[in-house]
Amino acid sequence: MRAEIIAVGTELLLGQVVNTNATFLSEELASLGFEVYYHTVVGDNSDRLETVLKLADTRSDLVVLCGGLGPTEDDLTKQVVAKHVGKTLVRDEAGYQKLQRFFEKREQPMTENNLLQALIIEGGTGLANRTGLAVGIFYQAPTVNYLLLPGPPNELKPMVYEQAIPLLKKQFIQEEQLISRVLRFYGIGESRLVTELKDLIDKQTNPTVAPYAKPNEVTLRLTVKCTTASEGQQLLDELEQVIMNRVGEFFYGYGETNSLANVVVDLLKDQQKTVTAAESLTAGLFQATLGSIAGVSAVFPGGFVTYTAATKHAFLGIDEALLQSKGTVSRECVEAMAQHARNLAQTDYALAFSGVAGPDTIEGQEVGTVWIALASEEGTQTIRQFIPRNRQSIRENAVMTGLDLLRKQLLKKQ
Ligand code: ATP
Repeated sequence: MRAEIIAVGTELLLGQVVNTNATFLSEELASLGFEVYYHTVVGDNSDRLETVLKLADTRSDLVVLCGGLGPTEDDLTKQVVAKHVGKTLVRDEAGYQKLQRFFEKREQPMTENNLLQALIIEGGTGLANRTGLAVGIFYQAPTVNYLLLPGPPNELKPMVYEQAIPLLKKQFIQEEQLISRVLRFYGIGESRLVTELKDLIDKQTNPTVAPYAKPNEVTLRLTVKCTTASEGQQLLDELEQVIMNRVGEFFYGYGETNSLANVVVDLLKDQQKTVTAAESLTAGLFQATLGSIAGVSAVFPGGFVTYTAATKHAFLGIDEALLQSKGTVSRECVEAMAQHARNLAQTDYALAFSGVAGPDTIEGQEVGTVWIALASEEGTQTIRQFIPRNRQSIRENAVMTGLDLLRKQLLKKQ
């Protein structure tokens, strides 16, 4: 089944809004087994939208439109699609009642234009909007299916998960089911991963293998079409084994919403261990990353941000002579930071980060120079990296490297 996505909105063309809906929809459609061949962005203009629809009819089985379902004059998606398929707009009763309740609660009269949000294409199916007012629409024409979704991502996503996906599954994927598995990798770039798996990717049929480069990591989505879940899981297991034999050393976990930090926190919890950090280069980014995980207090009591030589001495008690003689961006300094932080916070592990995020050099060291140390009861491991990127990337990459260092140390204990 071929699908395409049409995002409607002049604000997208002007560069004021990033078309994140298209990315999200493409990923979801791909995991349902649709082949998404085209993305189009068109402004709030009936003639141009009609031109795009005509073209879409010639090349897609499913046309997904997002945006332009609201009550204002520039919202014209459903009017244009209705005209395109030769139908009128009719009231969606559930959507209309929701609108009425909304205005009653606010004790405001409902203006005429608001009714537009409860209209659907005659003969189509209304999709309830749990987080907004404009109903979505699924309409089947003889050769093309149209799915109309609201523009705001916080309305579009629940509608896709709760209504559109079950509907599309029922409509298009009756006998076969699709099962996906996401493998996450750190420490290997997308191009190398793709090179290592080139033959698998080139000859993929079932399961399919789709690599995605994310900031500082790469994921592989394996998707299998199958008639039973056990058959599907077995095919995925076999493919995963082949992949692991080649690039398993970089694999850290499963799942679309997982992260290296989650994996590390889970390992710490399982082993009942704790971690602290002393951060210079990253200025709290490592600790903020931990802090974004619910329940992290079980393994992370707190830590230190010591951005200058003075605070490295004052907060961590690092010897001023060492700071003077070796410099703050040095093996000696970062090791002392980790060891002192571990002693002060009384944790099992302590990570320390020091380096040059730029744009200026420090102590004659090049921008991108990073030192990371991990202190534990077994001593201190230290790595030096050179990450010639921009300031934010250098800091984010350092946090990931620190997490990975700790993850590997924890795995040795399992
Ligand atoms: P509303 O009822 O809020 O008017 P709508 O369906 O008419 O919803 P639009 O008016 O087209 O949607 O867009 C509303 C907002 O949704 C935009 O200002 C933008 O913030 C967001 N949005 C629209 N399209 C996209 C998109 N393709 N990707 C990400 N965000 C989008």
